[in-house]
Amino acid sequence: MTYRTRFAPSPTGYLHLGHAYAALTAFKAAQDAGGECLLRIEDIDRTRCRPEYEAAIYEDLHRLGLDWPEPVLRQSDHLADYEAALERLKARGLVYACYKTRKELAQAAQGAPQEGDAPRAETAPDREPSWRLSLDAAREALGPEWERLSFEETGAGPNGETGRQTVRPDVNGDVVLGRKDIGVAYHLAVVIDDARQGITHVHRGHDLFEATHTQVVLQKLLGLATPVYRHHALLLDDQGRRLAKRKGSKSLRDYRLEGMDAEAVRALIAAAPKA
Ligand code: GLU
Repeated sequence: MTYRTRFAPSPTGYLHLGHAYAALTAFKAAQDAGGECLLRIEDIDRTRCRPEYEAAIYEDLHRLGLDWPEPVLRQSDHLADYEAALERLKARGLVYACYKTRKELAQAAQGAPQEGDAPRAETAPDREPSWRLSLDAAREALGPEWERLSFEETGAGPNGETGRQTVRPDVNGDVVLGRKDIGVAYHLAVVIDDARQGITHVHRGHDLFEATHTQVVLQKLLGLATPVYRHHALLLDDQGRRLAKRKGSKSLRDYRLEGMDAEAVRALIAAAPKA
């Protein structure tokens, strides 16, 4: 089986050094294994993605000396597939409508007491529902397989998790898989695309380690293969904070416009603290 991995950024801002580290790690792993690394544009959240960010992704990665097979899969070109998968899950009773707002869901996740806490409220005429995966229904659908769900971690999770990992679906609870404003959620699109693109190894940062628990459940429900996972540490700034688009971490585009070449960017990455 050809070793195939991917770098899958979302064009919701300019990439920063942490993305460059993730991309270089994935491309190098593919090269070492004699396989290939695909680029995938995860642009399903149309409220946050912008064309100029996507254009900058291509320029920034080329500047790092990276090249990938064409055509690049852009998730916004495949929305109907994700919707169809969501409909199939609905038809099997594996998702349910939830009328709570994002704020209420966040409070519920933090265990804050809520008035009239009824996660499966049937209707709320003034609101569009979000569609949430029912772990109870998933457990029932998978039967004895549920207890055996696992994945192979060849890197390490944020707490040093490595080797065969037993899936703990409860870590993320009944995740939202679809919502009117953003359409189908990340977890569903990502498992569909990892499977359709024949991804054998997923390389990504620690921040997505826990997402794997949910993604393995979805893979099983949809009859998709589970790749091998390799999570890596995240780059920190000089104050020990994670880099983040929303915190205004210096972008690769800024470095590029300053004339910094790939060598210099690699040196910055090598010197940066990671955790
Ligand atoms: N699109 C996700 C992100 O930018 C990464 C998805 C993944 O690697 O699974 O954070």
